[in-house]
Amino acid sequence: MADDSVSGGAVSGGAVSTPTGTRATEPPRDVLGLVGSTPGEGAFDHHHPPKLDLVNDCVHCGFCLTTCPTYVLWGEEMDSPRGRIYQMKQGLEGEPLTDSMVEHFDRCLGCMACVTACPSGVQYDKLIEDTRQQVERRHSRSPRDRALRGAIFKLFPYPKRLRLLRGPLRAYQASGVQRLVAKTGLLKLMPTLGAMESLAPRLSKPERLAERVPAQGAKRAVVGMLTGCVQSAFFPDVNAATARILTAEGCEVVIPRTQGCCGALSVHNGREEEAQKFARALIDTFSDVGMDYFVVNAAGCGSSLKEYDRLLADDPAYAERATAFTAKVRDLSEILVELGPVAPRHPLPVTVAYHDACHLGHAQGVRAQPRALLRGIPGLELREIADAEICCGSAGIWNVLNPEPAQQLGERKARDVLATGAALLVTANPGCLMQVAASVRRLGADIGLAHTAHVLDASIRGLPVEDLL
Ligand code: SF4
Ligand code: SF4
Repeated sequence: MADDSVSGGAVSGGAVSTPTGTRATEPPRDVLGLVGSTPGEGAFDHHHPPKLDLVNDCVHCGFCLTTCPTYVLWGEEMDSPRGRIYQMKQGLEGEPLTDSMVEHFDRCLGCMACVTACPSGVQYDKLIEDTRQQVERRHSRSPRDRALRGAIFKLFPYPKRLRLLRGPLRAYQASGVQRLVAKTGLLKLMPTLGAMESLAPRLSKPERLAERVPAQGAKRAVVGMLTGCVQSAFFPDVNAATARILTAEGCEVVIPRTQGCCGALSVHNGREEEAQKFARALIDTFSDVGMDYFVVNAAGCGSSLKEYDRLLADDPAYAERATAFTAKVRDLSEILVELGPVAPRHPLPVTVAYHDACHLGHAQGVRAQPRALLRGIPGLELREIADAEICCGSAGIWNVLNPEPAQQLGERKARDVLATGAALLVTANPGCLMQVAASVRRLGADIGLAHTAHVLDASIRGLPVEDLL
């Protein structure tokens, strides 16, 4: 049986110190009400189990521990990258997939801070992705957890269904019912619902984008643009700003209305077949548009789009197309730096704290480009956030599935952001924007929140800085 101890190496007996000294609470037990795996079988089947050679790359040095948000919260070895890799090894050696193992794997935010921190180059991203797929195939979840995940995956990857929520959500926010519900404290009794309610952004009227927007001036490239699910439903202004920036920089932008989800949420939660279905559909949608690049403005989506080659490697009809597609994927900040600026920037006198979304910084290694673009705006002062490598607790749907620890991570991040004294927080992921906004509100503080695209767009158009605050 798997237990919470590691023998040999740098750890023993499951009793570990908390090097950060920041252990705040015990990890939630049975948060998801797990009810067990297929009895009598080993942890993993033969369809892409976590690779033993990648597991063996871990030398148990512990350099990753202080960057891991769950280890920072709870100080538990089995909730650290090293401990999770150890449990994968146990599974590969024939241990069954226990409730305890699944709980520790589920608690991983997939933030990939450990990948950045690891001096041995351990590919934890690949390990946890393969492990999550095994968990989804081979572990029976409780009825409550199945229902919650079922509802999430029937809604979130479908932009049209999400857009249907806009009307009722706007009415709820505008009518005063939201304030009334907050006063009753009712949502504290239902943490998952409370988390979803607190994360919902303030909605404004969406701007309709043309399917093909011509380049301004000499055409430098044709780019396909992902509108995304949460981004298109709740942050359509980010998409409008992205299209305007690209056209101002000489790109013809292609935005097919038939595009759907990229599959990021599914792949990050072990739903392999569903993710593959979304990936094939997106490749088909953009197959005839003649694009040089495929541009993404949401970090979580970008990191999975850059791995379509891996996701579809076993599919003879799509493997080659997926590799070609992957080669064209760029985050908005990458393409803008690659092409170099042609549109003049107008001054924006504002102090900005830039937050590295984990799936941009850790998963894609894109840190310099957004900073270079922001520094290129006259009058803008960039400030760094302490402990920038630690996740804000958003992590796709992790904050909905784990509302209490997500709140703790969110408030920790919000405090670090507020300590910069910046007037504006800038990041490149809708999940981070919602999570930090909700956390700042809970702390009773106030700060402007913007996507990198908002700031660049405002500078190129010469808008007043007050529009961002
Ligand atoms: S991905 Fe993030 S939460 Fe998961 S083990 Fe690595 S650092 Fe910890
Ligand atoms: S994952 Fe890397 S940093 Fe963490 S213990 Fe293993 S070798 Fe060390």
